[in-house]
Amino acid sequence: MYAAGIDVGSTQTKAVVLDEGGRIVGRGIRMTGADVVRSSEEVLAQACASAEIPVEAVEYVIGTGYGRFRVTAGDDQVTEIGCHARGAVHLFPHTRTILDIGGQDTKAIRVNEKGEVLDFCMNDKCAAGTGRFLAAAAEVMGLGVEEIGPVSLESTERLKITNVCTVFVESEILNQLSRGRRREDILAGVHRSIAGRSASLLRRVGMEPELTFTGGVARNPGMVAAVEERLGLAVNVSEDSQYMGALGAAIFAVERARAGASRQEASR
Ligand code: ADP
Repeated sequence: MYAAGIDVGSTQTKAVVLDEGGRIVGRGIRMTGADVVRSSEEVLAQACASAEIPVEAVEYVIGTGYGRFRVTAGDDQVTEIGCHARGAVHLFPHTRTILDIGGQDTKAIRVNEKGEVLDFCMNDKCAAGTGRFLAAAAEVMGLGVEEIGPVSLESTERLKITNVCTVFVESEILNQLSRGRRREDILAGVHRSIAGRSASLLRRVGMEPELTFTGGVARNPGMVAAVEERLGLAVNVSEDSQYMGALGAAIFAVERARAGASRQEASR
Protein backbone atom coordinates (compact mmCIF):
# COMPACT_ATOMS: atom_id res chain seq x y z
CA MET A 1 0.00 0.00 0.00
CA TYR A 2 1.23 3.48 -0.90
CA ALA A 3 -0.08 6.93 0.07
CA ALA A 4 0.94 10.43 -0.97
CA GLY A 5 0.90 14.03 0.15
CA ILE A 6 0.93 16.93 -2.33
CA ASP A 7 1.80 20.41 -1.08
CA VAL A 8 0.84 23.10 -3.56
CA GLY A 9 2.75 26.12 -2.27
CA SER A 10 2.59 29.64 -3.66
CA THR A 11 6.08 29.18 -5.12
CA GLN A 12 6.85 25.47 -5.38
CA THR A 13 4.73 22.29 -5.46
CA LYS A 14 6.04 19.21 -3.68
CA ALA A 15 4.92 15.56 -3.43
CA VAL A 16 5.98 12.72 -1.14
CA VAL A 17 5.02 9.05 -1.51
CA LEU A 18 5.15 6.78 1.57
CA ASP A 19 4.96 3.01 1.77
CA GLU A 20 2.80 1.15 4.28
CA GLY A 21 5.49 1.42 6.95
CA GLY A 22 5.59 5.23 6.59
CA ARG A 23 8.96 5.27 4.81
CA ILE A 24 9.59 7.91 2.13
CA VAL A 25 9.92 6.08 -1.19
CA GLY A 26 9.46 8.96 -3.65
CA ARG A 27 9.62 12.75 -3.95
CA GLY A 28 8.67 15.27 -6.63
CA ILE A 29 9.11 19.04 -6.89
CA ARG A 30 8.51 21.83 -9.45
CA MET A 31 7.64 25.50 -9.63
CA THR A 32 3.90 25.93 -9.03
CA GLY A 33 3.39 28.39 -11.91
CA ALA A 34 -0.02 29.41 -13.19
CA ASP A 35 -1.40 25.92 -13.82
CA VAL A 36 -1.88 24.58 -10.30
CA VAL A 37 -3.74 21.44 -11.42
CA ARG A 38 -0.94 20.47 -13.80
CA SER A 39 1.76 21.12 -11.18
CA SER A 40 0.05 18.84 -8.66
CA GLU A 41 -0.35 16.09 -11.28
CA GLU A 42 3.27 16.40 -12.40
CA VAL A 43 4.83 16.23 -8.93
CA LEU A 44 2.78 13.14 -8.10
CA ALA A 45 3.91 11.50 -11.35
CA GLN A 46 7.53 12.48 -10.55
CA ALA A 47 7.30 11.10 -7.01
CA CYS A 48 5.79 7.82 -8.28
CA ALA A 49 8.47 7.53 -10.96
CA SER A 50 11.20 7.99 -8.32
CA ALA A 51 9.45 5.33 -6.18
CA GLU A 52 9.26 3.11 -9.30
CA ILE A 53 5.52 2.54 -8.89
CA PRO A 54 2.58 3.43 -11.14
CA VAL A 55 0.43 6.41 -10.01
CA GLU A 56 -2.50 3.97 -9.69
CA ALA A 57 -0.64 2.16 -6.88
CA VAL A 58 -1.18 5.19 -4.62
CA GLU A 59 -4.30 4.46 -2.60
CA TYR A 60 -4.87 7.71 -0.75
CA VAL A 61 -3.75 11.27 -1.53
CA ILE A 62 -4.01 14.33 0.71
CA GLY A 63 -3.58 17.82 -0.68
CA THR A 64 -2.16 20.69 1.36
CA GLY A 65 -0.82 24.22 0.79
CA TYR A 66 -2.63 27.20 -0.65
CA GLY A 67 -3.65 25.26 -3.78
CA ARG A 68 -4.82 22.11 -1.94
CA PHE A 69 -8.38 22.29 -3.26
CA ARG A 70 -7.03 22.06 -6.83
CA VAL A 71 -5.26 18.73 -6.27
CA THR A 72 -7.33 16.60 -8.64
CA ALA A 73 -5.88 13.32 -7.31
CA GLY A 74 -6.64 14.41 -3.72
CA ASP A 75 -9.03 12.33 -1.59
CA ASP A 76 -9.00 14.99 1.11
CA GLN A 77 -7.27 18.21 2.20
CA VAL A 78 -5.47 19.29 5.38
CA THR A 79 -4.06 22.78 6.10
CA GLU A 80 -0.32 23.28 5.63
CA ILE A 81 -0.03 24.28 9.30
CA GLY A 82 -1.34 20.87 10.39
CA CYS A 83 0.88 19.10 7.84
CA HIS A 84 4.14 20.90 8.74
CA ALA A 85 3.41 20.14 12.40
CA ARG A 86 2.84 16.46 11.71
CA GLY A 87 5.85 16.11 9.43
CA ALA A 88 8.24 17.94 11.78
CA VAL A 89 7.24 15.87 14.85
CA HIS A 90 7.55 12.69 12.77
CA LEU A 91 11.17 13.49 11.84
CA PHE A 92 12.13 15.24 15.11
CA PRO A 93 9.88 13.88 17.89
CA HIS A 94 11.03 16.50 20.46
CA THR A 95 9.87 19.38 18.25
CA ARG A 96 7.67 21.82 20.18
CA THR A 97 7.90 24.81 17.84
CA ILE A 98 8.19 25.01 14.06
CA LEU A 99 9.46 27.88 11.95
CA ASP A 100 8.29 27.46 8.36
CA ILE A 101 9.69 29.98 5.87
CA GLY A 102 8.26 29.48 2.41
CA GLY A 103 8.21 31.45 -0.81
CA GLN A 104 5.67 34.06 0.27
CA ASP A 105 4.83 33.53 3.91
CA THR A 106 6.39 32.67 7.24
CA LYS A 107 4.70 30.72 10.03
CA ALA A 108 5.51 29.98 13.66
CA ILE A 109 3.64 26.91 14.94
CA ARG A 110 3.57 25.48 18.47
CA VAL A 111 2.79 21.78 18.76
CA ASN A 112 2.39 19.02 21.33
CA GLU A 113 4.24 15.67 21.36
CA LYS A 114 1.67 14.15 19.00
CA GLY A 115 2.28 16.85 16.41
CA GLU A 116 -1.09 18.51 17.08
CA VAL A 117 -1.18 22.28 16.61
CA LEU A 118 -1.54 24.26 19.86
CA ASP A 119 -1.10 27.73 18.41
CA PHE A 120 0.26 29.43 15.30
CA CYS A 121 1.04 32.82 13.95
CA MET A 122 1.76 33.86 10.37
CA ASN A 123 3.06 36.70 8.30
CA ASP A 124 1.34 36.48 4.91
CA LYS A 125 0.35 40.09 4.33
CA CYS A 126 3.61 41.01 2.66
CA ALA A 127 6.76 39.32 1.37
CA ALA A 128 9.04 40.85 4.03
CA GLY A 129 10.74 38.10 5.99
CA THR A 130 9.94 35.38 3.45
CA GLY A 131 11.73 33.55 0.65
CA ARG A 132 10.61 36.30 -1.72
CA PHE A 133 12.73 38.82 0.20
CA LEU A 134 15.79 36.57 -0.16
CA ALA A 135 14.99 35.98 -3.84
CA ALA A 136 14.87 39.76 -4.39
CA ALA A 137 18.28 40.16 -2.72
CA ALA A 138 19.70 37.29 -4.79
CA GLU A 139 18.40 38.86 -8.00
CA VAL A 140 20.01 42.25 -7.31
CA MET A 141 23.32 40.50 -6.63
CA GLY A 142 23.03 38.38 -9.78
CA LEU A 143 23.12 35.17 -7.71
CA GLY A 144 20.81 32.15 -7.47
CA VAL A 145 18.75 31.62 -4.27
CA GLU A 146 20.85 28.56 -3.49
CA GLU A 147 24.06 30.64 -3.68
CA ILE A 148 23.28 33.51 -1.30
CA GLY A 149 23.36 31.45 1.93
CA PRO A 150 26.88 30.07 1.42
CA VAL A 151 28.11 33.53 0.31
CA SER A 152 26.62 35.17 3.44
CA LEU A 153 28.58 32.74 5.64
CA GLU A 154 31.82 34.32 4.32
CA SER A 155 30.92 37.66 5.94
CA THR A 156 33.56 39.31 8.11
CA GLU A 157 31.97 42.70 8.81
CA ARG A 158 28.62 43.27 10.52
CA LEU A 159 26.34 45.43 8.45
CA LYS A 160 22.71 46.30 9.19
CA ILE A 161 20.04 46.16 6.51
CA THR A 162 17.32 48.56 7.60
CA ASN A 163 14.64 48.06 4.95
CA VAL A 164 12.18 45.26 5.59
CA CYS A 165 10.25 45.95 2.38
CA THR A 166 11.11 43.66 -0.55
CA VAL A 167 10.85 46.56 -3.00
CA PHE A 168 13.01 49.02 -1.05
CA VAL A 169 15.64 46.47 -0.03
CA GLU A 170 16.76 46.24 -3.65
CA SER A 171 17.77 49.91 -3.74
CA GLU A 172 19.37 49.61 -0.28
CA ILE A 173 21.53 46.75 -1.56
CA LEU A 174 22.51 48.67 -4.70
CA ASN A 175 23.38 51.65 -2.54
CA GLN A 176 25.56 49.54 -0.20
CA LEU A 177 27.32 47.96 -3.21
CA SER A 178 28.01 51.39 -4.71
CA ARG A 179 29.61 52.41 -1.38
CA GLY A 180 32.03 49.50 -1.72
CA ARG A 181 30.45 47.20 0.87
CA ARG A 182 31.15 43.51 0.24
CA ARG A 183 28.30 41.32 -0.99
CA GLU A 184 29.06 38.74 1.74
CA ASP A 185 28.44 41.35 4.43
CA ILE A 186 25.32 42.74 2.74
CA LEU A 187 23.85 39.26 2.37
CA ALA A 188 24.63 38.37 5.98
CA GLY A 189 22.71 41.54 6.94
CA VAL A 190 19.77 40.44 4.75
CA HIS A 191 19.71 37.02 6.43
CA ARG A 192 19.92 38.58 9.92
CA SER A 193 17.02 40.87 9.05
CA ILE A 194 14.81 37.86 8.20
CA ALA A 195 15.99 36.01 11.30
CA GLY A 196 14.91 39.03 13.36
CA ARG A 197 11.42 39.02 11.86
CA SER A 198 11.18 35.26 12.40
CA ALA A 199 12.19 35.67 16.05
CA SER A 200 9.29 38.14 16.56
CA LEU A 201 6.82 35.64 15.11
CA LEU A 202 8.27 32.88 17.32
CA ARG A 203 7.94 35.08 20.41
CA ARG A 204 4.30 35.77 19.58
CA VAL A 205 3.53 32.06 19.48
CA GLY A 206 5.48 31.40 22.73
CA MET A 207 8.46 29.47 21.40
CA GLU A 208 9.56 26.36 23.29
CA PRO A 209 12.53 24.16 22.26
CA GLU A 210 13.14 22.06 20.29
CA LEU A 211 12.71 24.25 17.25
CA THR A 212 12.44 22.64 13.81
CA PHE A 213 13.03 24.87 10.79
CA THR A 214 10.98 23.84 7.72
CA GLY A 215 10.12 25.16 4.25
CA GLY A 216 12.29 25.82 1.21
CA VAL A 217 14.23 28.59 2.98
CA ALA A 218 15.51 26.07 5.57
CA ARG A 219 17.64 24.72 2.68
CA ASN A 220 19.62 27.94 2.89
CA PRO A 221 22.57 27.38 5.31
CA GLY A 222 23.02 31.13 5.79
CA MET A 223 19.44 31.38 7.01
CA VAL A 224 19.87 28.42 9.40
CA ALA A 225 23.00 30.08 10.86
CA ALA A 226 21.26 33.47 11.19
CA VAL A 227 18.24 31.92 12.96
CA GLU A 228 20.48 29.95 15.34
CA GLU A 229 22.55 33.05 16.13
CA ARG A 230 19.47 35.18 16.75
CA LEU A 231 17.76 32.61 18.98
CA GLY A 232 20.95 31.37 20.66
CA LEU A 233 20.03 27.73 20.10
CA ALA A 234 20.63 24.94 17.62
CA VAL A 235 17.65 24.15 15.38
CA ASN A 236 16.59 20.89 13.72
CA VAL A 237 16.84 20.95 9.94
CA SER A 238 16.11 17.97 7.72
CA GLU A 239 17.35 17.28 4.21
CA ASP A 240 13.60 17.08 3.53
CA SER A 241 12.78 20.49 5.06
CA GLN A 242 11.07 21.68 1.89
CA TYR A 243 9.00 18.48 1.73
CA MET A 244 7.76 18.79 5.32
CA GLY A 245 4.20 19.83 4.40
CA ALA A 246 3.95 17.10 1.76
CA LEU A 247 5.40 14.58 4.24
CA GLY A 248 2.85 15.52 6.92
CA ALA A 249 0.04 15.21 4.33
CA ALA A 250 1.38 11.80 3.27
CA ILE A 251 1.43 10.61 6.91
CA PHE A 252 -2.25 11.62 7.29
CA ALA A 253 -2.92 9.81 3.99
CA VAL A 254 -1.27 6.57 5.21
CA GLU A 255 -3.37 6.70 8.40
CA ARG A 256 -6.59 7.21 6.47
CA ALA A 257 -5.75 4.44 4.00
CA ARG A 258 -5.06 2.09 6.95
CA ALA A 259 -8.31 3.12 8.69
CA GLY A 260 -10.23 2.49 5.44
CA ALA A 261 -8.62 -0.95 5.07
CA SER A 262 -9.50 -1.98 8.63
CA ARG A 263 -13.12 -0.74 8.19
CA GLN A 264 -13.38 -2.94 5.08
CA GLU A 265 -11.87 -5.86 6.99
CA ALA A 266 -14.37 -5.42 9.84
CA SER A 267 -17.38 -5.32 7.49
CA ARG A 268 -16.42 -8.61 5.85
P1 ADP B 1 5.90 27.56 -0.77
O1 ADP B 1 5.37 26.30 -0.10
O2 ADP B 1 5.36 28.83 -0.18
O3 ADP B 1 5.81 27.51 -2.25
P2 ADP B 1 8.54 26.53 -0.15
O4 ADP B 1 8.50 26.07 1.29
O5 ADP B 1 8.49 25.48 -1.20
O6 ADP B 1 7.44 27.64 -0.39
O7 ADP B 1 9.86 27.39 -0.32
C1 ADP B 1 10.11 28.10 -1.50
C2 ADP B 1 11.27 29.04 -1.21
O8 ADP B 1 12.42 28.26 -0.89
C3 ADP B 1 11.62 29.91 -2.39
O9 ADP B 1 11.64 31.25 -1.93
C4 ADP B 1 13.02 29.47 -2.76
O10 ADP B 1 13.80 30.54 -3.11
C5 ADP B 1 13.56 28.80 -1.49
N1 ADP B 1 14.47 27.72 -1.83
C6 ADP B 1 14.18 26.58 -2.51
N2 ADP B 1 15.27 25.82 -2.67
C7 ADP B 1 16.30 26.48 -2.08
C8 ADP B 1 17.71 26.21 -1.92
N3 ADP B 1 18.27 25.11 -2.41
N4 ADP B 1 18.44 27.13 -1.26
C9 ADP B 1 17.87 28.24 -0.79
N5 ADP B 1 16.56 28.56 -0.89
C10 ADP B 1 15.79 27.69 -1.54
